[in-house]
Amino acid sequence: MTKVSTVIKCMDFRQNGFFKDWLKSIGAENSDIISVAGSVKELAGENSELKEWILDMIAISYNAHDSREMILTNHSTCGAYKIDDEEEEKAVQIEDMKKAEGLIKGRFPDMEIKKYWLKLDGDHHHSDNIEFISVD
Ligand SMILES: [Zn+2]
Repeated sequence: MTKVSTVIKCMDFRQNGFFKDWLKSIGAENSDIISVAGSVKELAGENSELKEWILDMIAISYNAHDSREMILTNHSTCGAYKIDDEEEEKAVQIEDMKKAEGLIKGRFPDMEIKKYWLKLDGDHHHSDNIEFISVD
């Protein structure tokens, strides 16, 4: 059986050119990609409707494709977060990824969850490179 992973990423276009190669490099080339503004922001937030909507998509990947690996990502200079200081943005996003991890683990206890913080070089309109940083 093909190993399938489920990815949550921000919709930000600057990641597009890098993302598939990176997934392949970490053994996750077969991924269902949930691409929404701010990535895990809504999973960590207070809007239960949006939270459930994302959890429903994870459930489809889990049930239809037998995904048992989740990859959570957030990235620097994210327009959905609007935090100017990079260290602060990173800290807030890592906190959100941990909240999302707890929520996902509660629903899907046998999901293995990996977290990455992506540092984009450039500005809001282009990125020349992305550093993919694993988060514990
Ligand atoms: Zn973003």
